[in-house]
Amino acid sequence: MRGGAFALALAGLAVLTVSALAQDAAVTPAPVSPQIASALDQLRDAALGDNNGYSIVEDLVTQIGPRRAGSPEEARARDWAQAMLRAEGFSNVHVEPFTLQSWEPVVQTASVIAPGQQPLVIAALGGSPSTPAGGLEAEVVRFLNLDALAAAPDAAVRGKIVFIDEPMARTEDGSGYGAAVRKRARCAPMAQHKGALACLIRSVGTNTDRFAHQGGNARQPDGASLPAAALAPPDADILARLLAHGAGVRVRLNITSVMQEAAPSGNVIAEIRGREKPNEIVLIAAHLDSWTLGQGAIDDGAGVAIITAAAKLINNLPRHPRRTIRILLAGSEEPGGLGGKAYDLAHHGDTHILAGESDLGADLVWRMRTRFGAGAGPYASAMLSALAPLAIISGDNALDEGGTDIAPTTEAGAPTIALNQDASHYFDVHHTANDTMAQIDRTHMRQNIAAWAIVLYLAAETDWDFRTGGMAPAAPPRQR
Ligand SMILES: [Zn+2]
Repeated sequence: MRGGAFALALAGLAVLTVSALAQDAAVTPAPVSPQIASALDQLRDAALGDNNGYSIVEDLVTQIGPRRAGSPEEARARDWAQAMLRAEGFSNVHVEPFTLQSWEPVVQTASVIAPGQQPLVIAALGGSPSTPAGGLEAEVVRFLNLDALAAAPDAAVRGKIVFIDEPMARTEDGSGYGAAVRKRARCAPMAQHKGALACLIRSVGTNTDRFAHQGGNARQPDGASLPAAALAPPDADILARLLAHGAGVRVRLNITSVMQEAAPSGNVIAEIRGREKPNEIVLIAAHLDSWTLGQGAIDDGAGVAIITAAAKLINNLPRHPRRTIRILLAGSEEPGGLGGKAYDLAHHGDTHILAGESDLGADLVWRMRTRFGAGAGPYASAMLSALAPLAIISGDNALDEGGTDIAPTTEAGAPTIALNQDASHYFDVHHTANDTMAQIDRTHMRQNIAAWAIVLYLAAETDWDFRTGGMAPAAPPRQR
């Protein structure tokens, strides 16, 4: 959905009421008291005029900038986050530290050296070792996807640079990512096994401008140690055209990277303590770390701002909700969801009433999905009714992990909610140098804040049990 639909929805606010919309839902919504309904209206109105969310992400990317997992900048971001959360009036603000093997790209360049010379725009992929000093040079061999590489005889690959030229589909729900991202982790071990010297992939992204997309874990899978990089989409086109024109295309690839054992990271936690049931936790997460080419504004400064601003509006109400709302600003999400794992280790025994995450930028929320118990439909229906004035539609009750930062918690059985943002343009920018404040639309961000404020308040102020009727088992973990 784009801006026009949202403007229309806002124009309809005066005539659409929660109760009127509820009758359109498939399941009769659980009743909501007049006090709660009035608080929801108040939260929605406040969010749609909110300047706090935009200010939070602006301050984060201005004061700190990029925040690589395990870096001094990520540590400064934790200090920044604690100070910000205390200033916003949250309680129990603290850091839960952990360490990781971190990976830092220092040099990442490439060029075509035959036929002719031309520069290529690349980004080294997570876990890539350095090339020999001065770079490596080799002939390029192109494959359409991993299956084609797997089927190739070793002799076709040995001593060459493997190039996997698989595009990513643009979709509103971001589903093109899962299919396209496999090559980012799998190219290196597969190509190395066949005797290749390096791996190049078409960036996992949908842009047509010359921005390459970073990504990947701090360590390549299966013990691989092969230099690997992503080409900006137009640069993948350059290589494909040269190869179509004739064989003997040679590339020089130069990567310098640094690995650090036991680099410091950590999760930042803050709470609105529940007034009646403080041990019942409504968990909302985003991540503090980012890749380093851009500012980490949409990934995931926006999420940090959206959930903090939403919780802050609830904190502004005359009294706290019954249950505790807990903010998790996770560290080291990018190199493998390490903050989410550390959170689960520290809080496995906590009673999580509901878990959600904001980590798909700042475009409009268009759909709500859940993984609730079979008998919790009336609660989902009541949430949808409250979200309908924001033009958010119903999705299914077959949500997977719900996000990397909450995945271990939801896999352990926490009911899960997703407010799907329009991802049509997210993967133009994701993990690139183009991830700056210029990508954030203030009005769209406000709609996100309104939606999360409504969901968090309903979950924390009611006594709804989202497990009612028993939940389907968690879906298997998805590929990052
Ligand atoms: Zn992210």
